[in-house]
Amino acid sequence: MSPDAGRYEFASDNTATICPEAWAALEEANADAVASYGDDRWTARVCDRIREIFETDCDVYFVFNGTAANALALAQLCQSFHSVGCHEYSHIHTDECGAPEFFTKGSKLLLIGGANGKIDIGQAEKMIASQNELHSHKPRAISIAQATEFGTVYTRDEIAAIAEFARAREMFLHVDGARFANAVASLNCAPKAITWEVGVDVLCFGGTKNGTAAGELVVFFNREISREFDYRVKQAGQLGSKMRFLAAPWLGLLTNDVWLRNAQHANHTARQLASRLQDEAKIDIVFPVDANAVFVRVNEQLVRDLHARGWHFYKFVERDICRLMCSWSTTDQDISDFVADATKSLNG
Ligand SMILES: *Cc1c(COP(=O)(O)O)cnc(C)c1O
Repeated sequence: MSPDAGRYEFASDNTATICPEAWAALEEANADAVASYGDDRWTARVCDRIREIFETDCDVYFVFNGTAANALALAQLCQSFHSVGCHEYSHIHTDECGAPEFFTKGSKLLLIGGANGKIDIGQAEKMIASQNELHSHKPRAISIAQATEFGTVYTRDEIAAIAEFARAREMFLHVDGARFANAVASLNCAPKAITWEVGVDVLCFGGTKNGTAAGELVVFFNREISREFDYRVKQAGQLGSKMRFLAAPWLGLLTNDVWLRNAQHANHTARQLASRLQDEAKIDIVFPVDANAVFVRVNEQLVRDLHARGWHFYKFVERDICRLMCSWSTTDQDISDFVADATKSLNG
């Protein structure tokens, strides 16, 4: 059996194809020879468009993927003896193979609990207070994911409170925005309202899960801290020589707000999937569906049945919780097929 056999529509938002606008922009960028290493009009236009969208004069860098974006951004904020407060289920802790610790050359991640994938300020307070001055790593940054790994979204006030908490302790605020577009679509707010206006210092803005093939942006709102970041990116092997081919698809996303439409579609289909699974198959939804993830509580038999019917998806957090991701390309038919198979299995 081919490793690609079966249906990957809900396995992740990175199983989706490249969206048509990103694809068209890539083709357009392939028309002529231009300068390398980001000295091209595509890269310049993406950076300008980001400054327009965020309504501020921020510094923008390209890297190939989200792990590099997070690890290098944190390395820019932290010395080896610093620590980073993050949620216990954060991607930087569970899914980056120690890249943040590696690129910071020793910074420690301090794991903080909190419901629905969001950092609880009370627990953050306790964690930071428990650090033994001089003898523990010095707390230097808080990292949150927006949207979170559990498909929930921090409100503007929640981010402002965390930023305030960080600022009071002379700590930076980093946002892992692999699904930042989904958060903006969910809150229906100006991007600035949940970033620099409330005190975010650096945002890793994801394009891959929104519709490109690769390429994430590291956006510094606090421009004092971006000094020499270009060297850090190059040394880490993350400077694309043909950068226009990372930039052009991004420009496809940022033109006419395709990024927002893609995210709105992904969020909308996730809500549809959740409500149909709940209504038609009586399946429990575990976390609020704020963005494009649906976490379901399912028994072992149902998981086996759905896998046998060809569906790919992954367990998360607990043995009986699975994650279903929607993307820009999820269709009503995908949802109907999945719900029908789940219903059949349960009634089988
Ligand atoms: C997907 C994802 C990333 C980036 O992962 P890469 O595979 O390195 O691109 C980062 N943070 C979160 C929360 C993610 O879901």
